Amino acid sequence: MSIETLCQILCHDGSITARRYRAKPGYKSLLKAGLIEESGVVEGWYCDDCSQGHAASIVHEQGRYGYFCLELGFVPLERDAIVAVKACVAKLISRLADLLKASTRKSEPVRGHTWRIGRLRSEHGDLSIYYHPALASADDLSELKLAIADEVGTRFRLILNATGTLPVGGSRVVSLSEVVEIGSDGEIEMATDIWALAGLVVTSPTGRPNTYGAPVKDLARQRIASGEALRGLKTEANVIKGLLWNEETKKGPSLTSVRRYLAEVREGPKKGQN
Ligand SMILES: [Zn+2]
Repeated sequence: MSIETLCQILCHDGSITARRYRAKPGYKSLLKAGLIEESGVVEGWYCDDCSQGHAASIVHEQGRYGYFCLELGFVPLERDAIVAVKACVAKLISRLADLLKASTRKSEPVRGHTWRIGRLRSEHGDLSIYYHPALASADDLSELKLAIADEVGTRFRLILNATGTLPVGGSRVVSLSEVVEIGSDGEIEMATDIWALAGLVVTSPTGRPNTYGAPVKDLARQRIASGEALRGLKTEANVIKGLLWNEETKKGPSLTSVRRYLAEVREGPKKGQN
């Protein structure tokens, strides 16, 4: 299952009501895995019961929660309506570091909202992996850049995030939802090969670059020709991903890249694409 719900909660930094999210996919699993928690109450509320419509602070008055409105006075709210949900970022980082078997993880942010998940070694160069919740504004970018400025440089660098796609020089930015998913036991697990995401192209003994483009496209064409191909892009991509997954090396193409190659086979290459 996708961790889209976790990404949405990560974006809000602790001030959203749990009630808005309880029915979303994976919510219970995330709660059980300790990756999110319901605690305290939100600080703010939006009053849309009066003619003005305005933001208000939640207050606790004579044993009741509520907020003040100029027109309506004290408006009481049920506690359940304002219970907050927040992501347990430290737990998420440590779980990711375990999954990736990363070294030099840091148990607190490097700076601000930027966390170092850790480093992975390879004969082709090392990979550092960071988490920064949002890369959607210039402020997000400067905060991240400041945080990693003093970090040890490695050949590959991956920034995992929950929202935003602004590019960061010298790094690849990937959404967490592409990297992990919720497994059948409710814990998060790897959904893809982290090295492929980081941009490492493994060269085969023949010296030919071994990217996933060619095998995915070949298999997609074969399955179309033999009539085995499933109709939905996502379901077919899932099947192809499964067929190309190497259980021994734990490597395989990401669902995103399979979908992209499969769409190209079905629709022909997009304009302006090499
Ligand atoms: Zn009001």
